[in-house]
Amino acid sequence: MARSSPVNACIALGSNVGDRLASIESAMQALGQLGEVLARSTIVETEPVGPVSQGPFLNAAAIVATRLEAKQLLLSLLDIERRLGRDRKNAPRWGPRVIDLDLILYGEDVVVEEGLTVPHPRMHERMFVLGPLAEVAGRMRVPTLNATVAELRDRLAAAGTSRTVGGSN
Ligand code: ATP
Ligand code: CA
Ligand code: CA
Repeated sequence: MARSSPVNACIALGSNVGDRLASIESAMQALGQLGEVLARSTIVETEPVGPVSQGPFLNAAAIVATRLEAKQLLLSLLDIERRLGRDRKNAPRWGPRVIDLDLILYGEDVVVEEGLTVPHPRMHERMFVLGPLAEVAGRMRVPTLNATVAELRDRLAAAGTSRTVGGSN
């Protein structure tokens, strides 16, 4: 099922294995097959967050105007991950990965279904998501948090970076 009108979806990209830059660039290219890439952020290097000791990430964000339904969009993202060589077998949760593509926002829709929660439930805890995303979608509203992306980034920056949070880039 395709939507009759496009929705602006925000995708977070991350990589900390192999040729990280090539993986991010290839993923950005592949996003163009899912709709029109309206904006892409700069690529930033970030320290890993969470329980697994691993190398630094490159992170970025993009806005894609897509006619895919949210679940179909997620399946397409997981397919791009596979094509770029991500192997989920034997991989620890929040461990190193060639590419990670998360659906952060799907317009202002709230989606809670098996295997998909949007807005991404940990987005507000993660500067590696909010930094790049605020570059391209600072004024987008996050419906579950009643704030814009830029406001969430500013709040997290004000809270400081010493707090330990779950998950990984
Ligand atoms: P995190 O979600 O904390 O960033 P992660 O990206 O390391 O962790 P993965 O192992 O890549 O987690 O994904 C696990 C599952 O999360 C996926 O198979 C997918 O079904 C599910 N998922 C639920 N909501 C989302 C979302 N908004 N974006 C991407 N995956 C999601
Ligand atoms: Ca992730
Ligand atoms: Ca993921």
